[in-house]
Amino acid sequence: MIARVSLDFAVGKEFDYLIPAELVSRIQVGARVKVPFGPREVLGAVTAIVDQSPHTNLRPITKVLAGQPPLTITVLKLARWISDYYCCPLETVLKTVLPEAVRHEEEGWKERLVVQAIPRAGNAAKLTTRQESILTAMEGQTEVPLQQLLQRARTTPATLRRMEELHLITITAGVVERDPYAHETIVPSQSLALNPEQASAFARICQAVDAAKSQTFLLHGVTGSGKTEVYLQAIAHALQQGKGAIVLVPEISLTPQTVERFKARFSSGPLQTMVAVLHSHLSAGERHDEWKKIRQGRARIVIGARSAIFAPVDSLGLVVVDEEHEYSYKQEEAPRYNARDVAVYRAQLENAVTVLGSATPSLESYYNAQQKKYSLLEMRLRADHAKMPIIRVVDMRAEARKEKGPPIFSLKLKEGITSRLEKGEQTMLFLNRRGYASSMQCPKCGYVAGCPNCSISLTYHRREQRLRCHICGHAQKAPTECPDTACKNPAIRFAGLGTEKIEETLHKLFPKARVARMDSDTLKRKEDYRRVLGDFKTGKTDILVGTQMIAKGLHFPNVTLVGIIHADLSLHMPDFRAGERTFQLLTQVAGRAGRGDVEGEVVVQAFTPFAPAIQYARRNDYTGFYDAEIEFRQQLMYPPLARAAIITLKSCHEDKVRFTADYVKVELQNGLKSIADLVVAGASPAPLLKAETFFRYQIMLRTRNMSALSKRMHPLLTAIKLPDDVSMVIDIDPVNLH
Ligand code: ADP
Ligand code: ZN
Repeated sequence: MIARVSLDFAVGKEFDYLIPAELVSRIQVGARVKVPFGPREVLGAVTAIVDQSPHTNLRPITKVLAGQPPLTITVLKLARWISDYYCCPLETVLKTVLPEAVRHEEEGWKERLVVQAIPRAGNAAKLTTRQESILTAMEGQTEVPLQQLLQRARTTPATLRRMEELHLITITAGVVERDPYAHETIVPSQSLALNPEQASAFARICQAVDAAKSQTFLLHGVTGSGKTEVYLQAIAHALQQGKGAIVLVPEISLTPQTVERFKARFSSGPLQTMVAVLHSHLSAGERHDEWKKIRQGRARIVIGARSAIFAPVDSLGLVVVDEEHEYSYKQEEAPRYNARDVAVYRAQLENAVTVLGSATPSLESYYNAQQKKYSLLEMRLRADHAKMPIIRVVDMRAEARKEKGPPIFSLKLKEGITSRLEKGEQTMLFLNRRGYASSMQCPKCGYVAGCPNCSISLTYHRREQRLRCHICGHAQKAPTECPDTACKNPAIRFAGLGTEKIEETLHKLFPKARVARMDSDTLKRKEDYRRVLGDFKTGKTDILVGTQMIAKGLHFPNVTLVGIIHADLSLHMPDFRAGERTFQLLTQVAGRAGRGDVEGEVVVQAFTPFAPAIQYARRNDYTGFYDAEIEFRQQLMYPPLARAAIITLKSCHEDKVRFTADYVKVELQNGLKSIADLVVAGASPAPLLKAETFFRYQIMLRTRNMSALSKRMHPLLTAIKLPDDVSMVIDIDPVNLH
């Protein structure tokens, strides 16, 4: 018998190996194996077992990793589909599909070494400072995994062994399951009585789950309409039928409230099951353990970010994609998959039901609902009878005329904040740009501080007195005079706003207010996020300023005012989705207001107040926006009317990359002639010509049948021999156009 194996490094093909007699019983599709490759031994995954091979002189598999095969047949099929559709080698896909810690596991469920402190008698020998600090690091815990202690106490195994000899600690093998939520107390919750809109959505989802025929629902429910309650009860229903569920959320480390709600519902009661959590802030060990719980069937519900769609849930019944319009479902490195679309495909493979939920569905999903590919479920009312907030759009051009130049806060917003402070209610302010000022200019010679690696200006961060590039991370000291040696003007000017400046201005305008800021500058560790949100939730903060981080899924009943400082910021991006993005952002941010008993108010400051995206958002008119936007997409044959792919060529040499891009375009045009509706645009400079030292040129392809295009295009592009210093990225269904 012969096993086909996908090796752990990307070569774009699989290799055949003999299965030695003694391993026959242990080798299945999905198993991890060790095989000879040239002079080395490498790890790989068995993707098929076949009777014959076109090759001769096959070498035998050397070893099978213990335990259940980590790859299930379904996940393997899914991986193959991703490889074909997103034009990415299977090996690379499998790297994303299986967590690192699981791929390298040699001996199945690994026993870990754990360290326990031995209680010391009062007059024991004097400890070294080193030893003291290790014991301090263990305080309050009965046992600590050795690896964790090594990191936490920044020490070495030798030091610990020495402490063991001195009977200060014991080191034993134990199976410790790392639970990232261990320190949290979760109060069990009961199902709520559904309102009529929820009940009807719920009934239709249950029907589909029972029919065990794949179906995709688009749950379009306004913010606060109680979508989560529908998910929870639908999942409970699936569990009753013996089925498992996967819930995707945009970035779970940023939505602790959602995780809590799931744990609270399923941590007790008749349907009690473990809820496994998978997201990017887990340590490798934590991820390993969560994954194992799922593979062993002990956790039947998985909640996680993007890659949780690959969780090895057995007999999957339901997949929920919350906030399905979010761009973070798209992975911006190979494989460049969109977890929402993969979810729909996976559910098809397993006869499961998908629920895509959003208050602002992506044009793609709503279009699919219009085309009857998806079934539309609508919830127009807020579940807790709270009213939708009143949205006021302030014309900042008029405000600018009243004062000298545009103010940061309009009169309306200032009054709003003042009255909230007086009433003890809370305010959230939103600006989608961190830092203090978006550029530094010299008014005399016109010098603008730009990034040496990217074609954008540097953002000024005042607290640290540095200029930073928000693309590549380049940082330099902020100059105190114009760096142009001929100019040296000391009166350098900062233009454009950032959240840091908002925070500072608030302190000036409202000296008594307690203000907190939440953006990736202030949140370096995951505890920061909990702390800032905790303080806001318990009323220790009056005003929370933030970037889009605060726009998502948060629920604070005492927030009655939301201010959007610069609504047009996302509107004038060189991206055909700029309008959609702005509409979504405004609606989501506005959804944070008035979720308690008091009606909410939203103040939207804009320099283009009559832009359709802003006006439709103000009227809370999703379908109005959709109709206008789809017409524009239709005219240009942009998604969702067609599907797009972007081929980006990158190089440090601009001439070379331009030349290569033109060549690739011609190759594509010649090779893909038979695809009748294909449009090939470019090659043209990317909107951000230079990023991270590379010049970038793009070719955009559009067609209605992307599967056919992918299949033809991938071998064509792989066959092109690129110059050494030019590289290529293929992005199917791109969401990021710069
Ligand atoms: P969405 O996810 O649609 O934005 P949520 O699920 O966060 O909305 O629900 C908003 C609020 O309404 C929550 O506080 C939730 O507990 C409450 N809620 C949901 N469904 C019901 C219901 N049937 N009866 C009463 N309150 C509900
Ligand atoms: Zn840069």
